[in-house]
Amino acid sequence: MSVKRNIKKIITEIRQTEKAFNRLPYSVSLLVVSKSQSLDKIKAAIAMEQNRFGENYVQEAMVKINALRDYQLEWHFIGAIQTNKIHLIATHFDWVQSISHLKIAQALNFSRPLGLAPLSVCIQVNISKEKSKSGIHLANLLELAEAVNKLDRLRLRGLMAIPAYYKDFNSQKLLFDKMKEAQQQLIEKGLLLDVLSLGMTHDFSAAISAGSTMVRIGMGIFGLREEK
Ligand SMILES: *Cc1c(COP(=O)(O)O)cnc(C)c1O
Repeated sequence: MSVKRNIKKIITEIRQTEKAFNRLPYSVSLLVVSKSQSLDKIKAAIAMEQNRFGENYVQEAMVKINALRDYQLEWHFIGAIQTNKIHLIATHFDWVQSISHLKIAQALNFSRPLGLAPLSVCIQVNISKEKSKSGIHLANLLELAEAVNKLDRLRLRGLMAIPAYYKDFNSQKLLFDKMKEAQQQLIEKGLLLDVLSLGMTHDFSAAISAGSTMVRIGMGIFGLREEK
């Protein structure tokens, strides 16, 4: 199956890019974006020692989380958060990377079961200010980050963004640099952020060059998906 070959290739590229931009070896982790992919394909990724998976749709993810519960996997919710799904997300995911409203963060905090570790979260930034994308604007980031940081059942880990689509490396990097700067400013305010979730199949090299610590790859591993 080509999933194996693709994972090998992506991991090789991640390691080479770390090296090329003086990043520490293994400072970038891979989140396998498994939305719309079958259990068999996910199992092929697990066989390649992948244990971090990203999903955008709760209903679809629940089937997979249940079916794969015998593996030690880390599930990241990376999609738009609907209020009526908050309880499921807080109960079955390890991470939520798409926080952009305090009310949602508060509801996740309220719903996170006491028997589980705090939910790791990232704030999603709408770095290109696109109307079609969710995420908070940079101007409002500090206020939201400080409020989320106070919620005791959540652990604010960092920032996530999906920049506007650019083909060329330099345009991609400019936006990722802004994200790195924003993270740095929050760290200077005393927030302990260790994650920058930046980079997808078409732009992960630029993201790594700018300081990403987690790239989220779907198509580069599974090929084209059938969009919903
Ligand atoms: C689908 C998706 C990805 C993966 O994108 P690819 O282009 O398939 O690598 C990454 N992050 C988010 C938030 C996504 O929705």
